[in-house]
Amino acid sequence: MRVSTATSSCSDSRVFTVVVQGYGLTQQRNAERTITVPFSRLQALMQSISKLGGKVISVTAASEAPATAAPAASPDPAAAKKATPAKAPAKPAAAAVHHADVPVNLYKPKNPFIGTVTENYSLLAEGAIGRVNHITFDLSGGDPHLNYVEGQSIGIIPDGEDANGKPHKLRLYSIASTRHGDNMAGNTVSLCVRQLQYDKEGETINGVCSTFLCDIEPGAKVKITGPVGKEMLLPADEDANVIMLATGTGIAPMRTYLRRMFEPAEREKNGWHFKGKAWLFMGAPTTANLLYDADFEHYQSQFPENFRYTKAISREQQNAKGGRMYIQDRVSENAEEIFSWIENPKTHVYMCGLRGMEPGIDEAMTAAAAAKGLDWSELRPQLKKAERWHVETY
Ligand SMILES: Cc1cc2nc3c(=O)[nH]c(=O)nc-3n(C[C@H](O)[C@H](O)[C@H](O)COP(=O)(O)OP(=O)(O)OC[C@H]3O[C@@H](n4cnc5c(N)ncnc54)[C@H](O)[C@@H]3O)c2cc1C
Repeated sequence: MRVSTATSSCSDSRVFTVVVQGYGLTQQRNAERTITVPFSRLQALMQSISKLGGKVISVTAASEAPATAAPAASPDPAAAKKATPAKAPAKPAAAAVHHADVPVNLYKPKNPFIGTVTENYSLLAEGAIGRVNHITFDLSGGDPHLNYVEGQSIGIIPDGEDANGKPHKLRLYSIASTRHGDNMAGNTVSLCVRQLQYDKEGETINGVCSTFLCDIEPGAKVKITGPVGKEMLLPADEDANVIMLATGTGIAPMRTYLRRMFEPAEREKNGWHFKGKAWLFMGAPTTANLLYDADFEHYQSQFPENFRYTKAISREQQNAKGGRMYIQDRVSENAEEIFSWIENPKTHVYMCGLRGMEPGIDEAMTAAAAAKGLDWSELRPQLKKAERWHVETY
């Protein structure tokens, strides 16, 4: 099956021409038909064709040259594989996000904003591994005001000097609060920080900035830069579908999306009423290490039609082979459905967490794509180009 990599937006007014075979009433079944639909009807038409066993010959946007399509409902993956892969538009017809409105670098390292810590608490339950804290800073009084949107990061310059006696360099942290902040007043920013700790020649080394942040007390002043980043922005479309793959503190941007989508106060305030589907895959070593778990469980119970929450708890759950359950195993288990979501041009995928998660996800997606007759190494760059595949790993 061909996977469209076109971007979409709620204001997409394009008209599409679909040439289809074997779709319609009995006498029309073998005839080729040309159907013209507005963008808003395209997905429904494709689903209907697929359901009735039709074969899509081509799909052409008003401004595009016709692209040969693989059989829409072919049960034969080999046949689909032979088809020319979908070509991503060089420049999306309608940007999925309004990049121009996104604030960037309001504060730079030479002249950082001085924020005040308002709270700092552990996100982990008893028995968890390591240390992960939720830390909030007051941003009041800045000129300009340090505002940001969901999916961006800020820089923190820890106090003190490095081994060469120079001021420490900034470290980036994904923002874990929505643009309104946890208090909805629009004057705070929150982070989700894991303390870096590792052993070197028998000695425990603590990361400079992550330890500085995990130890910080309310009232302390902190140098903040940014905001930065346009890679992880949410689509503007309220009907978009969002697949989120997070490990550890990679949950930070996902928390902002989910609050924006499902927190009643956010929905009221932001005037953006998410109507699509969201699916969070969260990887953690133990149940006690799951971050913001109760909030996500709550959203799932309140919005069962719109939100799905799938956990991979590596040291407690087993994958199909009897090994540890990692996020990529959950991706493999749900590959069929994930790909049916991806076939919808309104679906965006977000991945965030430690860089080490990427090869596993890539492997799972490669196998899942192959089962559908698709080549993931070709498809992924197309999705990326269409601004539907978003990755921030560190
Ligand atoms: C876009 C972006 C977003 C980020 N978001 C978050 C976030 O939301 N939450 C979060 O906690 N972090 C996040 N990070 C990571 C963060 O920026 C810091 O890198 C992290 O907190 C460690 O900084 P530190 O100052 O504590 O460590 P440092 O003192 O700078 O030490 C890091 C260095 O220690 C060494 N090191 C690390 N591990 C080992 C090891 N096992 N063995 C030997 N040497 C090692 C490496 O040389 C490494 O460069 C993000 C990074 C980026 C780029």
